[in-house]
Amino acid sequence: MAVPNQPIIALTIAGSDSGGGAGIQADLKTFHAHGVHGLSAIAAITSQNTRGVTAVHPVPLLHIRSQIEAVFDDFPIAAVKTGMLGNAATVRLVAKALRKRKPAWVVIDPVMISTSGSRLLDEDAIEAVIKHLIPLADVLTPNLPEAEALLGHRLRTTKQLAEAGHALLALGARGVLLKGGHGRGNEVIDRYFDKEGTMEIRHARLPREGHGTGCTLASAIAAELAKGATPRQAVRRAVAYVQRALKNGYRPGSGTAYVLHH
Ligand code: PLP
Repeated sequence: MAVPNQPIIALTIAGSDSGGGAGIQADLKTFHAHGVHGLSAIAAITSQNTRGVTAVHPVPLLHIRSQIEAVFDDFPIAAVKTGMLGNAATVRLVAKALRKRKPAWVVIDPVMISTSGSRLLDEDAIEAVIKHLIPLADVLTPNLPEAEALLGHRLRTTKQLAEAGHALLALGARGVLLKGGHGRGNEVIDRYFDKEGTMEIRHARLPREGHGTGCTLASAIAAELAKGATPRQAVRRAVAYVQRALKNGYRPGSGTAYVLHH
């Protein structure tokens, strides 16, 4: 555990989920559960409950920048996680800030569409993610639909998944965790790619839909990196953390998806 007066510190730059299951709220709970002091820069405010997203309000660029500057000016930030950024201008601004501040670890969750089907990133922002954000990623965490959107084609076969991992590394990420949750079958295969090769993490598919699993996974990776884990260790531990949190999950509202218990 972190020494209270010298905490390990991580920052999430992401969207707020008023329902408390995903986004900034999930990130801060995850940081806390890892003994890491969590900071946040809110890039968008969603009006959301367990049934879905009813509105998205992007935070003005000046205010995203001032949040990021405020925290970097004061705290020794060991790792940064980005989640829902909403639009291309925000993606460019966040990338510029990360290039300037150079945190030791950067985890990029290329959030695009919620499980409930709402668009969380403008379609024309995908190019900016590829050009500006992916080259900064120590770990990039796309699910299958996000990897397809980034690469511009469908991924169906195991061979295509392996090629996709290498294609995303070629865009400049140092590690790529291609999440298998959107695949089929009783087993989920998450594939991690880096310059050493490929690591597969297999786990049982829990018979329940989770809300905020992607956000939690990426922030658990960031927390582990902040605490000194290698990217491979961080990814393994974070996948186990999400599995446990989903298994212990609960349904706080009337929606069907489970919120993770941290
Ligand atoms: N809301 C916000 C603010 C998010 O960042 C995300 C995911 O990254 C979601 C909702 C979607 O979460 P899920 O797809 O798990 O429902």
